[in-house]
Amino acid sequence: MKTIGLIGGMSWKSSIEYYRIVNEKIQNILGESASCKSLMYSVNFAEVEKLQLNDEWGKLNRLMANAAKKLYNGGADIIVLCTNTMHLCSNAIQDAVPIPFLHIADATGEKVAEKELKKVGLLGAKFTMQKDFYKNILKEKYAVETIIPNLEDQEEIHRIIYNELVLGKITSASKEKCISIIHRLQKNEAEGIILGCTEIPLLISQEDVKLPIFDTMTIHAEKAVEIATKS
Ligand code: GLU
Repeated sequence: MKTIGLIGGMSWKSSIEYYRIVNEKIQNILGESASCKSLMYSVNFAEVEKLQLNDEWGKLNRLMANAAKKLYNGGADIIVLCTNTMHLCSNAIQDAVPIPFLHIADATGEKVAEKELKKVGLLGAKFTMQKDFYKNILKEKYAVETIIPNLEDQEEIHRIIYNELVLGKITSASKEKCISIIHRLQKNEAEGIILGCTEIPLLISQEDVKLPIFDTMTIHAEKAVEIATKS
């Protein structure tokens, strides 16, 4: 089994889920007493959030590259970054280490393409919805077109993520808002919904909506295990 290096803390509410999922998946594959060989380097999210707000992506690149190097030096065979947004730093991470970096949009794109969906709604932090780093991978590598909520809905999702979910606040009011946003995307012909923020699956699940849901956190963590268990 390969050792998975997890860059966590963004936020720790989803990092603990990654840890749970990689271990549960390994158990499914290798049997009950098995557990996942892994390392986690967890950053201080308050620092990350401040740098994001100030658009200091150079500093964030260095922070993520250093985290990846620490995991590589600790014996990781593959790097998994436990957040969608911070994949804006993917190139810096991949350049910093000689081991594979498993991009969350690749893991997700594969699943959407398997279901033969062509147009999906993308929910996430504003960076993920508005910038191209995520949507381009889906389009260019998996022929999946993404649509995003209107500006007001984008603001609302971003607020729910940063003011509630990363702090562990799960409310039925925010859940209802997210469901309404998903319905609006469905009216705009979304055939599925990518939960492109690792905290949104803490709020919304497949039981809440009819459209197929792609939980990027679970998809990413399970793909890492698939790679780690392949010889
Ligand atoms: N975990 C979130 C994501 O998947 C947002 C927090 C962050 O900025 O990393 O995008």
